[in-house]
Amino acid sequence: MPTFDALLRDLRVKTSEIDAATLSTELANGKHPAVIDVREADEHVQGMIPGTVHIVRGFLEQRIERAVPDREAPVVVYCASGTRSMLAARSLAELGYTNVRSLAGGFTGWKRAGLPWEQPRALRADQEARYSRHTLIPEVGIAGQLKLLESKVLCIGAGGLGSPSSMYLAAAGVGTLGMIDDDVVDASNLQRQILHGTDRVGVPKVDSAETTLRGLNPDVKVDKHRTRITAANALELIAPYDVVIDGADNFATRYLVNDSALRLGKPVIHASIFRFEGQITVFPGNGSPCYRCLYPSPPPAEEAPSCAEAGVLGVLPGIMGVLQATEAIKILLGLGNTLAGRLLVYDALATKFRELKLRRDPKCPTCGDGVDRSAIPLIDYEQFCAGPAPGRSKH
Ligand SMILES: [Zn+2]
Repeated sequence: MPTFDALLRDLRVKTSEIDAATLSTELANGKHPAVIDVREADEHVQGMIPGTVHIVRGFLEQRIERAVPDREAPVVVYCASGTRSMLAARSLAELGYTNVRSLAGGFTGWKRAGLPWEQPRALRADQEARYSRHTLIPEVGIAGQLKLLESKVLCIGAGGLGSPSSMYLAAAGVGTLGMIDDDVVDASNLQRQILHGTDRVGVPKVDSAETTLRGLNPDVKVDKHRTRITAANALELIAPYDVVIDGADNFATRYLVNDSALRLGKPVIHASIFRFEGQITVFPGNGSPCYRCLYPSPPPAEEAPSCAEAGVLGVLPGIMGVLQATEAIKILLGLGNTLAGRLLVYDALATKFRELKLRRDPKCPTCGDGVDRSAIPLIDYEQFCAGPAPGRSKH
């Protein structure tokens, strides 16, 4: 059995190293090797090389693929002094990474060379407690929680779907929630719209939503948009957000949200509910497939069901809205497989989920072949919508 010193000597011969000055030059010249800090969390919080991804040595093998999916991409690993990073480099080589270098002298050497470093952002003490069940999940961690806190999600409608989705996103610490709704709370909403309460009947829904969401989590900023989304304001409303949750109950809004989001390259999490059945899918940020791949144009007004007349089991939007919030968090954190290209149908009476494959339609008017997405026309379809005017009654 070789001693540790012998092992290190052997590794030093086999591992390519990079010195701090060379790494600094590579980073400055726009060559961007993935720089991975393999130190422990308490070392990392003291300071890091700017742009670093932190993966503690003990989780390196498990998490490297998510950080660096391409095994041929250049990777530089560092620790405090350059020893643990050499062991880490060996592990990465064993996993098939072909271009791994270990930072000679580690972070200590980097600082000694007078090169810039920074304090990683951290959660406040109260946030550490609040989000501990998130940060304990390796796939989320502190970095994921910080990402959520910086994220912005727009909920179209503060109604049946917007209630559970916004409440769970607020609880999860999504830092900014935009709520679009021009309506006031009505007694008939309370059977399912759990953002609101009996004492808020008559209050604008966006105000009621803000009270509930900020009460749940004061970290959350609520952007109140007491308006209807129209062709005139859609781009401006959607542009500041990372993800759109479509909780609209009418065709006019769904088409408008689809078309505007495609122009802006924003992902839309679409859901709809009817009596005992819910549907959900994701129209991804790259746009395909989209809502118009499913329904190229709106149905004639007389065929369009109106939510006010349709009726819905009160818990159903709860389930679908929570699924929407789940997809939003996955998109924000880059986790798992979203429902893009899949329509999930929930039958509450049978307690069954079915899945239908959605395909991009090459002839789709908004995401088909040759369509210039930046020039997609925005249309107000009000005349096609049966029942109340769009935006008046959310699920
Ligand atoms: Zn399409």
